[in-house]
Amino acid sequence: MRELIIDLDAIAHNLRTMSERVTRHDGSRPLVMCVVKADAYGHGMVPVARKLEAEGADYLGVADIGEALTLRNAGIDLPILAWLHSPRETFASALSAGIELGVANLEQLDRIAHAAEHTGRVARIHLKIDTGLGRNGSSEADWPVLLERVKELVAANRVQVVGIFSHLSCTSEADDLRQIAKFEAAIEKARAMDISFELRHLTASDGSLNYPQALYDMVRIGVALYGLSPFPEHSSADFGLKPAMTATALVVQTKNVPAGQGVSYGYLHRTSEPTTLALVPVGYAEGLPREASTHASVAINGKIYAVSSRIAMDQFVLDVGSDPVSIGDEVTLFGDPAAGVPSADDWARASGTINYEIVTRMAGRFHRRYLGAAD
Ligand SMILES: *Cc1c(COP(=O)(O)O)cnc(C)c1O
Repeated sequence: MRELIIDLDAIAHNLRTMSERVTRHDGSRPLVMCVVKADAYGHGMVPVARKLEAEGADYLGVADIGEALTLRNAGIDLPILAWLHSPRETFASALSAGIELGVANLEQLDRIAHAAEHTGRVARIHLKIDTGLGRNGSSEADWPVLLERVKELVAANRVQVVGIFSHLSCTSEADDLRQIAKFEAAIEKARAMDISFELRHLTASDGSLNYPQALYDMVRIGVALYGLSPFPEHSSADFGLKPAMTATALVVQTKNVPAGQGVSYGYLHRTSEPTTLALVPVGYAEGLPREASTHASVAINGKIYAVSSRIAMDQFVLDVGSDPVSIGDEVTLFGDPAAGVPSADDWARASGTINYEIVTRMAGRFHRRYLGAAD
């Protein structure tokens, strides 16, 4: 009665769209790393990764090693980079599974080198420099020391530097350009120390659309793959992207009520005339933001209805007036606005957040159904 319909063909379309967008005038293009962390932003990591592999994705990116191991255990053979590590991580299973590792500091580097010695594997690493986001990555001050140690470990055949990467804050163009300059300086430093590597990568979806001069050897694309715009002021359609997630539920009860009936907790809605109430069995346990109560809308039979009452844990109620809404009718909470239904962007605006958070939090008792699955 609650379904997330995941259109894997839309994801394949978005991969092609983004690959074309980052193609340079001379026809060359950076590799595309498809970011499938956080259960592929709520779309289901393994089926999404299988589809991306079948569609010729170059790389997969995740935050945690656990996510990378889940992909390997599911038989995914693509190169996978994981970049956010527990202070207790030993790195042995990651190396055995051929996972590439982001390295942000000496302490991680030394533990990875230790794991390399024990597993007999050369660790494939991507050095992460913090060029100004103020988040994960080596500080500029620590960078030369990190590079010195990398050089020793390369010589000892414990590690191989595959890449150097960083992440933009997307605060303003001036801030991003400063980060781009710092990224180039960090790369120069590594080159000056004769450290060789193949892949420089900096931009996520937003930077890849904004800064064609900073695509380097690989781009890391997350939200755009799922058909969502990384910019609140732009829609999916502005970039030719197709939202891949449609959240639906079936009306489980309808009821005729008189004028003056208070509806759901706190009576945020009170009926103004005799009307029909329709009960939708989705709540904040499924990830619907409670803050969206009275601000969001849904579609039933091609018509839009405001979510005028309180979103509760398991359900919310719609006032559908005299419309012929019946038990079993399908409610679309959000999907592709091209189909005339509300979008994840609409739900984000209704709850003061971003579309990323809306799709990523959809879980709970939703059942996922896949269209266009790779076999
Ligand atoms: C999540 C993430 C991405 C993908 O970002 P999008 O904005 O979803 O494209 C890329 N790089 C890093 C380091 C990330 O954490």
